[in-house]
Amino acid sequence: MLNMQTTQRTTQEWQQLDAAHHMHPFSDMGSLNKAGSRVITRAKGVYLWDSNGNKIIDGMAGLWCVNVGYGRQELADAARDQMLELPYYNTFFKTTHPPVIELSQQLSELTPDGFNHFFYCNSGSEGNDTVLRIVHQYWAALGKPQRKVVISRINGYHGSTIAGASLGGMGYMHEQMPSKVENIVHIHQPYWYGEAAEGVTPEAFGKARAAELEAKILELGADNVAAFIGEPFQGAGGVIFPPESYWPEIQRICDKYGILLVADEVIGGFGRTGEWFAHQHFGFKPDIMTLAKGLTSGYVPMGAVAIHDKVALPIIEAGDFNHGMTYSGHPVAAAVALANIAILRDGGVVDQVKNETGPYFQKSLREALSSSPIIGEIHGTGLVAGMQLCEEKNPRKRFANGGDVGLICRDHCFGNNLIMRATGDRMLLSPPLVISRTEIDELVDKAARCIALTAKDLGY
Ligand code: PMP
Repeated sequence: MLNMQTTQRTTQEWQQLDAAHHMHPFSDMGSLNKAGSRVITRAKGVYLWDSNGNKIIDGMAGLWCVNVGYGRQELADAARDQMLELPYYNTFFKTTHPPVIELSQQLSELTPDGFNHFFYCNSGSEGNDTVLRIVHQYWAALGKPQRKVVISRINGYHGSTIAGASLGGMGYMHEQMPSKVENIVHIHQPYWYGEAAEGVTPEAFGKARAAELEAKILELGADNVAAFIGEPFQGAGGVIFPPESYWPEIQRICDKYGILLVADEVIGGFGRTGEWFAHQHFGFKPDIMTLAKGLTSGYVPMGAVAIHDKVALPIIEAGDFNHGMTYSGHPVAAAVALANIAILRDGGVVDQVKNETGPYFQKSLREALSSSPIIGEIHGTGLVAGMQLCEEKNPRKRFANGGDVGLICRDHCFGNNLIMRATGDRMLLSPPLVISRTEIDELVDKAARCIALTAKDLGY
């Protein structure tokens, strides 16, 4: 807990100090400093409180990460106990420690067959940097170092380090980078609502977007391609669920050309869709997975790369792998991850999302919103949803200034003490996985009210 001197400041004092000294991620600091940040001071379950005493329902689980909800004593105890027992030791020089050993063993049980090795880092971005290193090391170990190119998607998100952002397909990030990591190319995303021509079915569109992978591989030469990376559903890009035809086709193409398939499970992992990992919902089989966020429910930073035996064993055979971070496998983070997994698994949270709260949330959201004149489609399963704002429902038509409409809606959310994210013209929800039915009712009611207020502002 903070000391009394800092907790007793007024909101205004905090805002002034924040503006004076704190650079926020992904922010326009000039305008933020003028407006003043909202100061979040505490949280419990699915609720946040700000420094003015407002109680806010967190429809985004922080940044898609607080899967077990806020204020879990078990996680605090695990961190405290581990800090007193062994707060830090490295795993670089022929040493290891119990928390990282136990965590790796448990992850090998939770992940699908064949995933038996885990490399740790501190975030999803570092995870994807690590993926890139692993992919290259694998092909070098197999004597095919020319297999260098990684294929990714426009509007995919894989983090904000130079490699993470290069893998990602966010043009506004690329524009601000001195250069991108070489040997990364992008194909189009499987975003039917936004990008399919009139009359093209989701099924046909999914296949067509997957076919771009094959075309790109043939253009580059299969012998030069190392891997394809994608989020099972795009999270930061707008909770875009690909058509059902997409992933089976991607799998077929990767198999055909012997290309590694990487699932970025940073958002989808640890129960978000009701499965432990989102690729299981879509039914494909990756060779590598990036994990972060839900691994520790965001209580402490930790990321990991899950490596299938097919990839791990040749790397292990090959000798030195010159990669790692001071905090790779941090004992406190590992202890928290273990306590977090115990809640998700033994507390039945993931099962509950699959069988109970997930279906209830999806049904409630559709009942509350499908008649809205400005909601064109709702994507999602389990406890994640993306709602497409539209000018006209039939034939589907997006707003010309969709990003502005999203911001109008987000302002209503702010005013109604609801955290719902706007990504362009899509509104996103991804609450803590421990949310109850009553809390889902509140979340859905508030989301529907904010969308109705937005529609009213626009003259519907
Ligand atoms: N991959 C995906 C799919 C993500 O959604 C994110 C973060 N939202 C990242 C990677 C990057 O993770 P981090 O912010 O922890 O670096």
